[in-house]
Amino acid sequence: MMAAERNSDLMTRLPPVRGRLIAGVPLAPFCWFRVGGPAEVLFEPADAGDLAAFLAALPADVPVTVIGVASNLLVRDGGVRGVVLRLGKAFAGIRVDGRRITAGAGAMDVNVARAARDAGIAGFEFLIGIPGTIGGALTMNAGAYGAEIKDIFVAARAVSGGTDGRGQVAALTPADMAFAYRRSAQPEGTIFTEATFEGRSGQAAAIALRMKEIQDARQDSQPVKARTGGSTFANPANEDGETLKAWELIERAGCRGLIRGGAQVSPQHCNFLINTGNATAADLEGLGEEVRRRVLAETGVQLHWEIRRIGDPAGGLAEVAS
Ligand SMILES: Cc1cc2nc3c(=O)[nH]c(=O)nc-3n(C[C@H](O)[C@H](O)[C@H](O)COP(=O)(O)OP(=O)(O)OC[C@H]3O[C@@H](n4cnc5c(N)ncnc54)[C@H](O)[C@@H]3O)c2cc1C
Repeated sequence: MMAAERNSDLMTRLPPVRGRLIAGVPLAPFCWFRVGGPAEVLFEPADAGDLAAFLAALPADVPVTVIGVASNLLVRDGGVRGVVLRLGKAFAGIRVDGRRITAGAGAMDVNVARAARDAGIAGFEFLIGIPGTIGGALTMNAGAYGAEIKDIFVAARAVSGGTDGRGQVAALTPADMAFAYRRSAQPEGTIFTEATFEGRSGQAAAIALRMKEIQDARQDSQPVKARTGGSTFANPANEDGETLKAWELIERAGCRGLIRGGAQVSPQHCNFLINTGNATAADLEGLGEEVRRRVLAETGVQLHWEIRRIGDPAGGLAEVAS
């Protein structure tokens, strides 16, 4: 069935909301890669109450997918079935209280970093280099330059979007989150709405300097202005538990600059895939799979996707891969 045919059916089955529900919204403009098909329905809740009430009343068979600003996401060309949730301005607030900062899940990491700098709170500098939202950062345990979300996390609020207990609100502790390398232990379907972090006392000027160093280092080493999805593969561990660098393995397998359709392995940083202009999601995913195949053949190491891939391939409804 085509996405457009499914749209009208689904809209009639959705509970009333105070925010916006729109059918058949193209997702590519929301994604860093600028590829991907439409959301069957896009929901932008008015606030956390609107979100919880919507989820509690949503028919159990309707899938829910939450996206941030899709800086670590590849949306497939056939689009995403069910409701795609996007937390907009209503979730972008940032409050400072002593050395603690509470931010909505839709707040950009860079804005949280700047609020910390302005308030003289150290420990948030790494967020200046991560182009996502707080919701994405919690899910991915985002990190850079020796620091990660886990180091500053105090608490989060979330709503269940999974099939069990949909719409239930929860307060989450560090133990609930159990952060690990680029992930948290929260089940698929947990929708973060807000989080509180804590840093150390610092000097605004020293914090600003560290942030500038991080920004300069990134510009030198990563294709930060390209249509990309950040690090494609997680750094794997070898048999001795040592962490290997994905980019070095990709380099060894001769994949730097490799092209498939409009997709390319970045010549600047070979753990980044790039949409050179007219790539499809299938080009990007196919190129990533080719890199995995070559790395395995050359080095014996199996790479795992760090980029989350969602939705259906063009022209058909397929299982959503993990
Ligand atoms: C140029 C570039 C550089 C990058 N550098 C880094 C880096 O140094 N370190 C790093 O860690 N990452 C990096 N990334 C990856 C990316 O920015 C982070 O993973 C970021 O945290 C993703 O946030 P997002 O809002 O874009 O989430 P999305 O990409 O939209 O989503 C990522 C995952 O988070 C989930 N998610 C999003 N919002 C919520 C929510 N409110 N509740 C529950 N789940 C949610 C999505 O369902 C998805 O599974 C980089 C990306 C780019 C493009």
